[in-house]
Amino acid sequence: MICPVCKSDMIVVEYHNIELDYCTGCKGVWFDSGELELLLESQGLEETNLFLDNILDSPEAVSSEKKRKCPLCGHKMKKITIGEQPKILIDMCSEEHGLWFDGDEVNQLIRHLAGEHPPKQDSREQVVSFLEEVFEAPE
Ligand SMILES: [Zn+2]
Ligand SMILES: [Zn+2]
Repeated sequence: MICPVCKSDMIVVEYHNIELDYCTGCKGVWFDSGELELLLESQGLEETNLFLDNILDSPEAVSSEKKRKCPLCGHKMKKITIGEQPKILIDMCSEEHGLWFDGDEVNQLIRHLAGEHPPKQDSREQVVSFLEEVFEAPE
């Protein structure tokens, strides 16, 4: 799959049967529809469905950030925000193909999840260390 930002070829990263597409050029990540949910659920993060419903119901955010195209269907994606202080601006395909996070937005998401959805036991550490591994991997 081609990165919607820098047009590099993205690599597929697999973890517990969840596949993410990761761009080594700009460190962005694409979650196919359902994969973010699977990832959160596999880590025992509660309120996942509520969190994702909120995302899907979000109104289009006002932003000067350039519109990006869905890597699956090529349609322009909708800008939406997650959380408050800071708001995380992400791109979502309106056909529900998936979500795009810029590299720094993934880190913001991790912080958001860690702060607002305290998980059981060490699952936060697991998901955080998984994401850190993935996104700081040398290739
Ligand atoms: Zn890229
Ligand atoms: Zn799409």
